Amino acid sequence: MARRIAVIEKDKCNPQGCGGYLCIRVSPGNRMGNEVFVIGPDGKAQVNEEVCTDAESITVKKCPFGAIHMVKLPEKLTEKPVHRFGIDGFSLFSLAVPLFGQVNGILGINGIGKSTAVKIIAQMVMPNFGIKEAAATATEAKGKKEEEKEPINKLIKMFKGSEAQVFFEKVRDGKIRVSMKPQAVDAIPKTFKGTAQQLLHKVCSDSKKIAAVAEELGIGNVLETEIGQVSGGELQRIAIAAAVLKDSQSSNVFVFDEPTSYLDIKQRIKASQYIRKLAKPETAVVAVEHDLIVMDYLADSVHIMYGEAGAYGIASKPRPTRTAINTYLEGYLKEENMRFRQHEIRFETKPPKKVIGKEGLVKWGDFSKKLGKFRFTAAAGELPKKHVIGVLGENGLGKTTFVRMLAGEIKPDVGSIGASVRISYKPQYIHATEKADEQVTNILAKAQNDAQLMARLEIEPLLLKKVSELSGGELQRVMIAKCLAEDADLYLLDEPAAYLDVEQRIAVSKLLRERMDVHGKTALVVDHDLLLVDYISDMLMVFEGEPAIKGEAKGPFSMEDGMNSFLRSLNITLRRDKDSNRPRINSPESRLDREQKAQGRFYYS
Ligand code: SF4
Repeated sequence: MARRIAVIEKDKCNPQGCGGYLCIRVSPGNRMGNEVFVIGPDGKAQVNEEVCTDAESITVKKCPFGAIHMVKLPEKLTEKPVHRFGIDGFSLFSLAVPLFGQVNGILGINGIGKSTAVKIIAQMVMPNFGIKEAAATATEAKGKKEEEKEPINKLIKMFKGSEAQVFFEKVRDGKIRVSMKPQAVDAIPKTFKGTAQQLLHKVCSDSKKIAAVAEELGIGNVLETEIGQVSGGELQRIAIAAAVLKDSQSSNVFVFDEPTSYLDIKQRIKASQYIRKLAKPETAVVAVEHDLIVMDYLADSVHIMYGEAGAYGIASKPRPTRTAINTYLEGYLKEENMRFRQHEIRFETKPPKKVIGKEGLVKWGDFSKKLGKFRFTAAAGELPKKHVIGVLGENGLGKTTFVRMLAGEIKPDVGSIGASVRISYKPQYIHATEKADEQVTNILAKAQNDAQLMARLEIEPLLLKKVSELSGGELQRVMIAKCLAEDADLYLLDEPAAYLDVEQRIAVSKLLRERMDVHGKTALVVDHDLLLVDYISDMLMVFEGEPAIKGEAKGPFSMEDGMNSFLRSLNITLRRDKDSNRPRINSPESRLDREQKAQGRFYYS
């Protein structure tokens, strides 16, 4: 019989918000006198898995925050968890073990255990093999050899006969030294006060080495800047530099948890090239990444993580990157005979539209704006009706300034822009400062009448939360829903993919595309996820210039012309994958790369 686990996601459980332990009040088991749901020591609900029956599916549905999971584990899963967070917490069943000489990617949705898996590899989390197991070991331990109590020895036993056994033997013998870049780089300024240079000096005393790494990552100009003053993209690259410089003589496993968030496409490519160079026969690199084009470019092999978000996660064995990404999109692991998603994610081959003879919605003449040292200019252009216009360009070239001018938030110094049309705008920065104490249900009064929007963005479990309680990805989904729920002529979305996992990005892309098509509306979408921009756009605006000094908006162009000009500036070429149709970056100097460059065809057509 398939095993079942019962889980309460503590960060979602909100006993005040549900009117006081709703689960305890409605649980059929509790009504029969069993203590299925109780109040845990942390004041949150706690579920007793031993007495939890199928009848509790009603309780799962009643929790307004979606905090309760009752999940049947796959029948083939016979192992015990490697780690479990508390007696009714998330379980991780396997690990993605680094392979020497390779960049090993980890792909999966948020809440599936990717960060926990890499923290165990980095020895930042000591596995407990399921909390009950750990407790049993503690009581039975008397009389056993001392070393058998150690988690590393248990891992060696657990993974006997696999790559993982060899890896953990090296860990036990002190031959593995891990350096890790954590996911949440925005937490760094909260714990460190000082310049970027001082932060890097804390992990490396060699100033020449710091300067060389900073130069390669393009952060040489911010070394003297206070950490609290640098941008998100700069902070990300400082964190990558710190991970590489830390014990650089001795680290032989580098772990990068989401190394490209906040980076523009040019920086993503550069950071990927830099990270790739770290993989040598004597070193291994592990990277968690949500941008599929970047993952494809960065990794040699990929572990797919699947399961149920918040409840349990399993890491597949590694597959070559192309196969792994296509398998992920298919939702079916053939070798494991495991379907982890009911539907396949498909990319259609659509010929780039040559958009001519369209009806205009918003028009502007040449205009310019000076903001401190930064000068922004735009050549005359027009947004047509019933189109999605993608916007690509490096950070610091004025993309957000342009969007804010379109939205009427700021005015140009010379010339004019400003739409006499109804605009709905989702800004880039969506920090929960304003309305932090408001419940999502109040913010999304209109969206709640739109069942498609609510379902596709999975808003329902967020409705009773306060805005300040939302994670980055949840807040992003709420703000996208708010923007799209408005009845507008022009939808402006600035970086809608930020904080979203790979599946949410695809879901948002499809939703946007469908809504603009069905309602005949126009959207302008700024993003650094090339796959998303390619998927949704009919036309493209390209921003050029020198970051923080001068920026120029050009277009809109046809997709072919815009992409060719943008990809040429990055010196990369794109092709479609022959099986999945997804866009892929050609390997530099590969036959296709050389052919396409020779023909001036940087974008597939
Ligand atoms: Fe309320 Fe859900 Fe928490 Fe139970 S699990 S106390 S129903 S929020």
